[in-house]
Amino acid sequence: MANSNPIVKCSVDQCTHWMSGDQCMAAKIGIYNDEETGQSETSSDTQCKSFHAGKGVGDYVGALHNANIGGSIKAAFADGTQITPAVECYVNNCKFWDQGNYCKAPSIEVNGMNVAKSSETDCNTFEEG
Ligand code: SF4
Ligand code: SF4
Repeated sequence: MANSNPIVKCSVDQCTHWMSGDQCMAAKIGIYNDEETGQSETSSDTQCKSFHAGKGVGDYVGALHNANIGGSIKAAFADGTQITPAVECYVNNCKFWDQGNYCKAPSIEVNGMNVAKSSETDCNTFEEG
């Protein structure tokens, strides 16, 4: 499963990595458990640690160090190409988790309402298994 790399759909448009079409332009994202309990029982316990709150232009530039520039350029040339980051996941009780912190789901959905910090985001695809 060394090359597992689910397509990431994300609706968290408060994040500087978010792009229209529910795409994430980060090069890599990390999905983590709930910070306090260190585990996840439901998808609301999971979070995208790579969330970066967008407040202004300075923050946007700051996020570019983790930008999927290659993917963005490719998408510009091939209309309809999904930009999608590499996924590293630490939620090892999810049925899609695999050794090496891989996610073997074909696609994942990240979401959250009025998000101000990463703990308010969720990997909605989490399923206990
Ligand atoms: S919250 Fe995570 S998946 Fe969504 S755009 Fe930000 S970094 Fe990408
Ligand atoms: S679907 Fe499961 S294994 Fe994949 S990123 Fe989400 S929590 Fe991690």
